[in-house]
Amino acid sequence: MKKLFSSLLLLSFFLFFAQTDTAQVINLDRKNAVEVISKPYVILISADGFRYDYAEKYKAENLLKLAQYGVSAKAMLPSFPSITFPNHWSLITGLYPAHHGLIDNYFYDYQKKKFYAMSNKEAAEDGTWYGGTPLWSLAEKQGMLSASMMWVGSASDAGGERPTYYYHYHEKFTPNEKVDKVVDWLKLPEDRRPHFITLYFPEVDASGHHFGPDTKETENAVHLIDDAVGNLVEKVKQLGLKNVNFIFVADHGMIKVDVEHPIAIPEMLFDKSRFDFYNSQTLMRVVVKDPAEVHSVYKELKKNKTSDYDVFLNKRFPKKLNFSLKDDRYNRIGQIIVVPKAPKIFLEKGKKTSLGKHGYSPYEVPEMKATFIAFGPAFKNDKKIGEFQNVNVYPIVTDVLKLKMTEPIDGTQKVAKEILK
Ligand SMILES: [Zn+2]
Repeated sequence: MKKLFSSLLLLSFFLFFAQTDTAQVINLDRKNAVEVISKPYVILISADGFRYDYAEKYKAENLLKLAQYGVSAKAMLPSFPSITFPNHWSLITGLYPAHHGLIDNYFYDYQKKKFYAMSNKEAAEDGTWYGGTPLWSLAEKQGMLSASMMWVGSASDAGGERPTYYYHYHEKFTPNEKVDKVVDWLKLPEDRRPHFITLYFPEVDASGHHFGPDTKETENAVHLIDDAVGNLVEKVKQLGLKNVNFIFVADHGMIKVDVEHPIAIPEMLFDKSRFDFYNSQTLMRVVVKDPAEVHSVYKELKKNKTSDYDVFLNKRFPKKLNFSLKDDRYNRIGQIIVVPKAPKIFLEKGKKTSLGKHGYSPYEVPEMKATFIAFGPAFKNDKKIGEFQNVNVYPIVTDVLKLKMTEPIDGTQKVAKEILK
């Protein structure tokens, strides 16, 4: 009996947390400034891992139709490394990962003497890890309410202001439940109604990792998100709001990797007295503890390497990837960068891993490229554009919402000028 009671207690404990975890956080002190009420709306949607060619490959009917009505890019180039947290933060700040500080999903900061890990709630909601001004913070500071359905970093105080409405991250809502909550935000009285909304879907990425990009399961996930987007557009239309704009993006693509023949991590790196290394499988960063040793270690790694990967000194890392020593504003990357050639990955002996991966350079591996589709009254109709870098999404949003940028970013107005009416 006592045991039953304690399990019930445990159960109710978990239920309590399950409930509080999924609850919306609302800042009731805020209202739109008077001049904001007549401004347009932007819903920025990210479908994680929605590769540039998925809509066509899997015939995502709604997205293809909306792309035809609005603007679509041949592909959007993720910033390097093509990993989830760095790229969501690049999309929302207009800065490259090495410039905003989120250089990976997991990394160590030697000044803070702390780990950042996307799965660690305390770190993920601690704004001091995140550089730049996220769009919701920019909006809030200019009197415009914002809302976020689980965009990376949106539960943190990065940039100074959280969204007026947000959720702590969890995966209990279905895509259509998220859509309903977004529609509910747009039903609020106009002084409480958010004009900038971010919406995040993890399903396509999860399927791509687990089953691989070229599978029925990933096709199904693409249709799940396509249906949710169709549902969102239809429900928003029924609200009769005049000026709602949609931007559909992904953080990166996906490729099936060679999990049967991974590259062994060079033996010498296991000497903890001399090195720390951080293996993201599609990228490995090496910190050499004695700076005097960097050059000789680099030479040794290079001499012993196979044709399956490249070794770079961070100061000579390819310029176009914006991930070199001079880009490393938070000093988090490490002096040596080791890059496997797709479909090869680095893997610790005996460790299992998933079939689908991302993280490679989009210039070397086209499968890393992401989707960009935008539509609504602010956007041109039936407009196809070429490839562009994802740091250029930020100025598109500021332009549509007439927000003033308050600090320099890496993106420019060029794409905005090309696609906006
Ligand atoms: Zn991702």
